[in-house]
Amino acid sequence: MERLSANRAVQSSGDPLSLTEAGQRSTYWQLLSYVYPQAATIAQAIVCTLGYILSMPLLAYFAQRIAEYVGRGDVNGLNRLVGLIVVVFVARGCFQYGQDALMPKAALRIGRDLRNQVYAHLHSLNLDYFETSRTGDLAYRLTEDVDRVSEAIHKFFQQFIPCVLQLVAVLAYLLYLNWQLTGATLLVAPVIGVLIGWFGQRLLSLSRRSQSRISDLSSLLTEVFAGVHLVRAFAAEDYEIRRFQQQTERNRQVKYSAEQVKAIQNPVVGFVLAMGGLLVFWLGSWQVAQGNLTGSEFVGFVTGVVLLMDPINIITQNLNELKQAEASADRVIELLQVQPTVTEQPDAIELPPITGKIEFCHVSFSYHTGQPVLVDLSLRVLPGEVIALVGSSGAGKSTLVNLLPRFYDPQAGQILIDGEDVRSVTLRSLRRQIGIVPQETILFSGSIAQSIAFGQEHFDLEKVQAAAHVANAHGFISALPQGYQTWVGERGVNLSGGQRQRLAIARAVLLDPRILILDEATSALDAESEALVQEALARLMPGRTVLVIAHRLATVRNADRILVLEEGQVVESGNHEQLMAQEGRYASFHARQFQR
Ligand code: ADP
Repeated sequence: MERLSANRAVQSSGDPLSLTEAGQRSTYWQLLSYVYPQAATIAQAIVCTLGYILSMPLLAYFAQRIAEYVGRGDVNGLNRLVGLIVVVFVARGCFQYGQDALMPKAALRIGRDLRNQVYAHLHSLNLDYFETSRTGDLAYRLTEDVDRVSEAIHKFFQQFIPCVLQLVAVLAYLLYLNWQLTGATLLVAPVIGVLIGWFGQRLLSLSRRSQSRISDLSSLLTEVFAGVHLVRAFAAEDYEIRRFQQQTERNRQVKYSAEQVKAIQNPVVGFVLAMGGLLVFWLGSWQVAQGNLTGSEFVGFVTGVVLLMDPINIITQNLNELKQAEASADRVIELLQVQPTVTEQPDAIELPPITGKIEFCHVSFSYHTGQPVLVDLSLRVLPGEVIALVGSSGAGKSTLVNLLPRFYDPQAGQILIDGEDVRSVTLRSLRRQIGIVPQETILFSGSIAQSIAFGQEHFDLEKVQAAAHVANAHGFISALPQGYQTWVGERGVNLSGGQRQRLAIARAVLLDPRILILDEATSALDAESEALVQEALARLMPGRTVLVIAHRLATVRNADRILVLEEGQVVESGNHEQLMAQEGRYASFHARQFQR
């Protein structure tokens, strides 16, 4: 039953997700909903931006006035102007600070909220979703992709919008100065627009490929590091290194293609801009020659045109980055679009404290249509009964117990706990009353105490210790150098299989559920560990309804009832003596499994 506890990285070359265009659009609106709560900060930042931008045409105006004063040799006028310029620069600095501090504040919060939301959403998805997704890919989407989206939002507000506003402001000023010359300058705008659009599309598709290549790489790493023992055992290092090299080469190729697109784009757009500049000079000198424009007006105009260059360059760059981020946004949005199938009903009630009566009524279940796993299965378990599930591998034992906490929902039939349909109660109230001791205990990073009180933010150390006592774990925990504060999980202390199991039992003791699901480990422990685990279980089980996927003879013998599962159906039911006397499936199973 490792599916209860482990998210396996499943190899798959294709992406399990797909997204319709309509879905995409609706989620871009969803992205906007993250922007909304930051509207006030963004508005303040925009005010600063406007102040900053308004100073731009002023600078062009000042340049023109300076040229006039210098031309006339008006030193006094020049002094007054310089004083004014200093004031404008100070104000401009303040506005710039406001913009640079407030925009990132809003954008980073938007990124944080998006990441939190996606993470919470993932937790609402079904277990099989994690089994068909690659963990490396999911991790990449939640880290790098969200970062890119958040950076894009950051840049959109901090650079893109200000630059567009700056462009508009400077253009307005230029139009005011000389509309004919400005009109001629604008002739290059559509050419630039088309070019930027075309390059943007290329970059978007390359970025999509690049992101998926990097996430392939990240999936491969997760897989290989998790299975590094296997690699060593099969002396497959060279094979794995070659596989990695192929991926890094693909990654390089697609990234280089994107760089090439950018490398071509810059000189092409630069050339068009230069032609625009030449046009301005040509038309400007022509107008000056005609007497329609003074020399100082022309200097002011050219300064304005120079001020256009910066925003145009930044906008071009930003559009590229936004396109690249769009690829990441798609990947994050895809996650938000996946809908959980096990959901709470809107009118779900809290499951009151239960006695532990379980009923399966004509339950049929399949993971994939056409491949039934449980077929019209009916079962009634009384409070406090210990049921041992036996049967060959693949018979459906894990599936049966997985339906109880609603890890999956059956396609037909009903599952009742204390007469209450599990689908009519809240998931939390249901799962909190079902304890699970899995075959393989996963320990997340943290102290042993936190590991026992898993899922509880605040816990009572004394209760944790008491639970560890019951689970026969206190002895080995106390012998560790830092006792209950010893770090476990990644980079933590190494615990034996038996010790881990006793920690899992301590978790269950602390939770104190009425229903207990027990998946006995198939791998044998040493005799001493085995005895400690069995003793701990014997203390844990009384007073609870227990469903145990049994691999040990002792468990099977002591169970109140044994259910023999075959091809998704209960084929025999009774206690050990009754079933042995029947000389049916159980008797032969018993002979195969337990009498060696
Ligand atoms: P048991 O616990 O008795 O070994 P399982 O309940 O694990 O049996 O499996 C029953 C059948 O369902 C098997 O054929 C198995 O391959 C299939 N199965 C189990 N889990 C999944 C899953 N998450 N997705 C698809 N098929 C599954």
